[in-house]
Amino acid sequence: MPSSIIRGKYVVKRVIDKWSSEIVTDGAVFQDNGSIVEVGKYQDIRLKYDRAQVIGDGKQIVLPGLINSHHHVGLTPFQLGNIDLPLEPWIAIRLANRDVDNYLDTMYCALQMIENGITTVMHNHATWRKPSNQSFQESARDVLKAYQDSGMRVAFSFSHRDQNHVVYEDDNRFLSTLPKDLACKLSNRISNSKLSPDAYFTIFSDVSHAFSNDPKINVFLSPGNVQWCSDSLLEQIKLVAKKHNTGIHIHLQETIYQKLYGYKTWGKTPLAHLADIGFLGKELSCAHGVWLTKSDIDMIANSGTMVVHNASSNLRLKSGIAPINRMTDKGVIVAIGIDEAGLNDDKDMLQEMRLVSKIHREPGISSPYPTSHSVLHMATANGSKATFFDDIGVIEAGNRADIILVDLDHITNPYLDPDTNMIDALLYRGRGLDVNTTIVDGNVIMKDRTFTGVDKEQIWRELRKWLSKDLTQEELERKEVSRKLLPFVEEYYKKWDFISDDPLYFFNQG
Ligand SMILES: [Zn+2]
Repeated sequence: MPSSIIRGKYVVKRVIDKWSSEIVTDGAVFQDNGSIVEVGKYQDIRLKYDRAQVIGDGKQIVLPGLINSHHHVGLTPFQLGNIDLPLEPWIAIRLANRDVDNYLDTMYCALQMIENGITTVMHNHATWRKPSNQSFQESARDVLKAYQDSGMRVAFSFSHRDQNHVVYEDDNRFLSTLPKDLACKLSNRISNSKLSPDAYFTIFSDVSHAFSNDPKINVFLSPGNVQWCSDSLLEQIKLVAKKHNTGIHIHLQETIYQKLYGYKTWGKTPLAHLADIGFLGKELSCAHGVWLTKSDIDMIANSGTMVVHNASSNLRLKSGIAPINRMTDKGVIVAIGIDEAGLNDDKDMLQEMRLVSKIHREPGISSPYPTSHSVLHMATANGSKATFFDDIGVIEAGNRADIILVDLDHITNPYLDPDTNMIDALLYRGRGLDVNTTIVDGNVIMKDRTFTGVDKEQIWRELRKWLSKDLTQEELERKEVSRKLLPFVEEYYKKWDFISDDPLYFFNQG
C-alpha cells in the first residue's frame, strides 16, 4: 500500500458541532500504509512529501468515507418482486424471494455502496439466509469474502431469533389458526431454520476466528428484535458480547405493533424490558427506534445505547418517522443506515442523508431540526462508533485513511453563491453519482468512478447468469406458502388495538 497525497478544494476533517465543520481550503491529506499522517494545506504537504503520488485534481471536496450503519442485502426486495407493504406483511411476502448467491449479492451490494461513497457498512446477515447445501459458517464466509474482495470495511452482525417466527405470537398458537397444509409447511420451515444458542455462538466464534486477522472486519452478535428473542437468548448474547468485547446490533421498536407487543407481554415497551434485563449499554446499537417513548429515550441516553436511523426504510414500510430530534437533544449517538434499499431503491447515502436532514424539520420557527453538519456527523463519526471502528469517520493524523472525493461540478455549476457553506452544498445538492473516488485504508478502490481491483461487468454478468436459472422446487414452494400466508398475517394484526400514545412528533397537530 503506497503512500499518497489526497488533494481537494476542500478537505472536510470533522464536524465540530451543529453549526460548523473543520474544513481546510486547498487542502490535502498525506497517508502512509493506510494511516493518516498529516492534514494541511496542499502546498505544504506537497513540499514535505514530494515523492508521494497525488490523488485528486484539487477541484473536489474530500470527506471522511460515509458509514452505512444498518444494512442487509444487495438485490433489493423490490428487485426480487415485492412492492412495499407495512413491515409485518412485508416479512411474509419476502418469503417468496428467490435465493441469491451470497457472494455475488454482497459483491453487487458492495460495489454500489463504493460508487456512492460508502466505505464502511454494518451488514446484518440472517442465520436463515443460506442455501440448503451450505452451512451457516459458509454463508457468512461468502458474504465476508465479497467484502474483502471489494475492499470495503465491514461490521458483520449475524442475526438470530428463537421465537415468534411468523407473527408476534407463539408459533404453535398462530399455526393452529391456519389451514393444516399451510401450518405444516410453515412448521417444517421453522424447524429447519432453528438453531440452539450454543450453535449460534459456535457460528459467531468460528466466523470471528476465521476473519480475526483482517482489521477491516468486526464481527458482532445480533438478536433479530426483542419480540423474536427469548430473555434467555438475549441474556446469553449480552454475556458472550462482553466476553469477546464486541458489539450487539438489534432491530428495535420499528413498528407500532412491536411496541404494542411489549405492552401485551410485559406491560411496558420492549426497550423498557431490555432495560429491566440489563441489556442496554455502550456496546448496543438499535436499528429504527421509530416508536421509542420519552422515557425510552431517557433510558437509551443514560445507558450510552446507540440508535441507527433508517429514514427511507421507515417510510417505505409504513413504520413511521423516528423521533431523532428528541434523541439528539438527549445526547443519544444516532447513526444512519440505508437498510438495503433507500428511497430510490439503491444505495445512495447522500440521498439518504438529505432525506434525514429534511424529514425532521418540524414546523415552527424555533422548532428543532438536524443541520447539514449534524447529519454528516451521523453518517461519519457516529457511524464509526456504531460499527466499533474508532479510527475512522474523522480525517486526522493517526486515523485510517477511509476517504472519498466528491466532484463539485454538479453541485456548484453553473452558479452557487460563494458564501455557501460546503457542507450545506453537499447535503442540499450532492448525489451518489458525484462521488468520484473512494479510498479505504489508503487503497484507492474506485477512481474516476472506475473500480481499480474488481471487474464490475463480470460480477453483473455472473449475477445475471445465476438469476436466469429456473426456480428450484424449494423456491416454488416458498412462493406458494408466502401467497397463502399473507391474508392470515394481515388478518392477525387487524385484531391489535392500534393506539398511538405518547406521540413525539406533532407535524399537523395544532
Ligand atoms: Zn433491517
